Amino acid sequence: MERDMAKIIDGKTISLQIKDELKERAAALKAAGKTVTLAVIQVGNNPASCVYVRNKKKGCEYIGIGSLSYELPEETTEEELLALIRELNQKKEVNGILVQLPLPKHIDEDRVIKTIDPIKDVDGFHPQSVGALCIGQPGFVSCTPAGIIQLLKRSGIEIAGKECVIVGRSNIVGKPMALLLLRENATVTIAHSKTKNLKEVTKRADILIAAVGKPRMITADYVKEGAVVIDVGINRDENNKLCGDVDFDSVEPVCSAITPVPGGVGPMTIAMLLYNCMESSAINP
Ligand code: NDP
Repeated sequence: MERDMAKIIDGKTISLQIKDELKERAAALKAAGKTVTLAVIQVGNNPASCVYVRNKKKGCEYIGIGSLSYELPEETTEEELLALIRELNQKKEVNGILVQLPLPKHIDEDRVIKTIDPIKDVDGFHPQSVGALCIGQPGFVSCTPAGIIQLLKRSGIEIAGKECVIVGRSNIVGKPMALLLLRENATVTIAHSKTKNLKEVTKRADILIAAVGKPRMITADYVKEGAVVIDVGINRDENNKLCGDVDFDSVEPVCSAITPVPGGVGPMTIAMLLYNCMESSAINP
């Protein structure tokens, strides 16, 4: 008997849809004589960060908004970085500010994030943004989890009333993901490295979200038949091949829908950053 194939959730196509919607919004603003500008700050030249920063700038170009680029040397002091952020906070023509993480070890990331004016915090990492999400008030939402909600909704996957299990509790993925799913009326469980009987917990999930950072850790025996599986992981396996936290080949036959790596959650993160930039233009006209 032939089995049903799992639906592959295509983040590339969905992110392009979102970017094309944003392109229209940007054009309409431009026609009204308004511009939108994102300031991107990178300290040092971590190779992965260089790729992310380049893609963010390309995304701005694609939808037709401006980007200002600040490439600072590795030995930049914390005070110098904070001074630049304060200057950009004041600049009327800058709508959003993004500091690419990770920062060099001698700079306190928390202090940097806290210095960004929350009304320009397009990454959604400021404690005020996170607090607003927690109590259901308006504010910027962390891009990766916001992208996952869009992936689910635009794939016609119902969230309300579903059992959602998130593996991972980081500040940028796991925790905001839980809050967003709760806002969508899911029943939410967060698992982490101290969780007992992880497989039993993940097997409860109608929607399973893996944000662990462990290559192909989530195999078929973690997944309930027919579940929707979202793979946030971006890892390199022992052959230096890009892979997710989910063992795609063993999980795909068990689940009803799954995101590939690459081409799943990854492209959504930038699309949602650009979405936040468009929103910031409404907050900082
Ligand atoms: P972190 O390392 O900050 O968090 C990992 C989480 O996984 C922690 O909460 C940790 O638990 C938990 N964990 C680790 N090992 C286990 C285990 N064996 N069993 C259960 N839980 C475990 O990672 P991030 O959240 O930043 O990122 C996760 C993955 O997503 C990475 O691969 C990263 O590259 C990728 N990523 C992808 C993005 C995208 O755009 N697609 C954006 C951001 C991240 P504990 O808290 O107890 O230590």
